[in-house]
Amino acid sequence: MHPPLLTRRSFAVASLAALAACATRGESTVGGTLVRGGPIHTGVAAHPRAEAALIRNGRFVFVGALREARAAGRGAREIDLRGAAAFPGFTDAHVHLTGVGQAALLLDLVGVESIAALQTRLRDYARAHPEGPIVGRGWIETHWPEGRFPTRGDLDAIVNDRPVFLERIDGHAAAVNSTALSLAGVDASTPNPEGGRIERDAAGAVTGMLIDNAMGLVAARLPAPTPAQNREALRQAAALYAARGWAGVHNVSTTLAEEGNFQMLSDAGEMPVHASLYMEPDAVRAVFEREARSDVHSPVQVRGVKVYMDGALGSRGAALLAPYSDAASDGLLVTALDQLNQQLAQARALNYQVAAHAIGDRGNRLVLDAFRDTFAGDAEALRAARWRVEHAQIIAPEDIPRFAAMGVIASMQPSHAISDLHFAPSRLGDDRLAGAYAWASLLRSGASIAGGSDAPVEKGDPLIEFYAACYRHDLTGFAGPNWRLDEAVSREQALAMFTSGAAFASFQESQRGTIEIGKRADMSCFSADLMTCAPEEIPRARPVLTISDGRVTHEAF
Ligand SMILES: [Zn+2]
Repeated sequence: MHPPLLTRRSFAVASLAALAACATRGESTVGGTLVRGGPIHTGVAAHPRAEAALIRNGRFVFVGALREARAAGRGAREIDLRGAAAFPGFTDAHVHLTGVGQAALLLDLVGVESIAALQTRLRDYARAHPEGPIVGRGWIETHWPEGRFPTRGDLDAIVNDRPVFLERIDGHAAAVNSTALSLAGVDASTPNPEGGRIERDAAGAVTGMLIDNAMGLVAARLPAPTPAQNREALRQAAALYAARGWAGVHNVSTTLAEEGNFQMLSDAGEMPVHASLYMEPDAVRAVFEREARSDVHSPVQVRGVKVYMDGALGSRGAALLAPYSDAASDGLLVTALDQLNQQLAQARALNYQVAAHAIGDRGNRLVLDAFRDTFAGDAEALRAARWRVEHAQIIAPEDIPRFAAMGVIASMQPSHAISDLHFAPSRLGDDRLAGAYAWASLLRSGASIAGGSDAPVEKGDPLIEFYAACYRHDLTGFAGPNWRLDEAVSREQALAMFTSGAAFASFQESQRGTIEIGKRADMSCFSADLMTCAPEEIPRARPVLTISDGRVTHEAF
């Protein structure tokens, strides 16, 4: 059964009001973009579907029946969805966008089937990237016809004037060329470093294969990316993100240079996603002490600071209340508590938002306690501040209701659950899984969740995130027997995490997050209807149209 469409009367009234508002603002009342031809999911509970949406001056000026939209939209360019489904613009509420671009700029060696094929890819990449060291990753030699590791001779034959560093797919070995070896001063006389091995041939000569800690001898000498390379990485990542269907991002752990790149690309019209920035702790003060630079409609805005409580689960750095189930440790705090408290006090004093990394149940409890103590006695001020916990990954069941009670936002990345399901049970044991990746429990308790990807740690694909949130199986369809599948959320809840939830988490719910008259025109459109298709079809869908702030940033029907 289809939910009811808006009534004709409410369209007409709303449309006239919107057009009148345009006229008084001196904006155009003709032209624009009219999207139709597929289900438009508005994200508004009272009228969840519409036939058409009319966009002008960066906003929705009409949402409703096609006939009315055409009447209001004379001169508009019509975009036919051809049966694809439209949604409010997806926002990745936790991404490191420059990191996504840097990863994409590496030489990708996944799937090369021989040393000869590796050489071909190296040659092509070197031609396309004529300057600087070449860093690649992803090769594995086990099925190669040559039956051996690549050597420095193999690489020198292709590139001998700048360093080449090619990591094996497991990250535990690298093949390097002679230029890289001499840059690091590695020769036949160099001893193996602690925890590493420099491979040598029968005559004792260095082959170019570096194992484990020996990789660091070369890696430490490779120059950091230049400012121009970082700007280019961000530019390419933003374009990639629009093409994957994202309309916006919350960029976390932002440096001052990266913030400058966001502003510069935005000013140049080369930032196809709107961005809320959360700064590194050492960069935030400078931003908030300088004059306010942007109005509320600016597509790039600095919102606050990203701080860190503990480490990550895979490397057993997440701080747990009881020891790991598969090790004697209980994790670590990466920021001392008194330092964290100072960071929070400064955020409250300068009135900016806090996004605090917490993975383990102890890390989460300490952060909630620290938030409470910073606002001691003023629960309303804490709620109004909308401070966020990034990841909120493993929470003691008794702490789950504290998020809603305190008004703290859980900023979560569903793909982590389907990546971690292979090792989280052994790290945590069965009982602790009850509060792990507990999206449904948090929502039931009344908490607000913002959905993100943590790319480049994960791929940064809205379809994988949506699939993980509502299905909680990995991409092959696997989930272990105790993987708490009842923590998967409904399609509507998954949609809200990446749309209205992300908007609320960045104080933009009056401007974004739903397809409604007057809001900024953000839309993500996919070849499958995510609200109704089979779960396994979700990650196979294609992004066909992305609109951010009224601008078509991706179109590929
Ligand atoms: Zn992250």
